[in-house]
Amino acid sequence: MPRQLLQQCLNCGAWCLETICPQCGGTAQAAAPLKWSPEDHRANIRRQLNNVESPDWSQTIPTLPSLEEMRSGAGQQEEE
Ligand SMILES: [Zn+2]
Repeated sequence: MPRQLLQQCLNCGAWCLETICPQCGGTAQAAAPLKWSPEDHRANIRRQLNNVESPDWSQTIPTLPSLEEMRSGAGQQEEE
């Protein structure tokens, strides 16, 4: 019994539902997707890539305009 339904032939790459390829008779293997976990096992690596621990990192985060800037911007739109 195959581990999952969709199989792929190791010889010709054909997709099938059997472990023996109907195209060439070769061995077909489970076409499994990549392993996935809701936990982010590579978060530590990604933090190092983005250099999150440096004090300058917070300066690169996008920010909203200040309240005063937003109020003046909204006022201009209403006047027009
Ligand atoms: Zn094949």
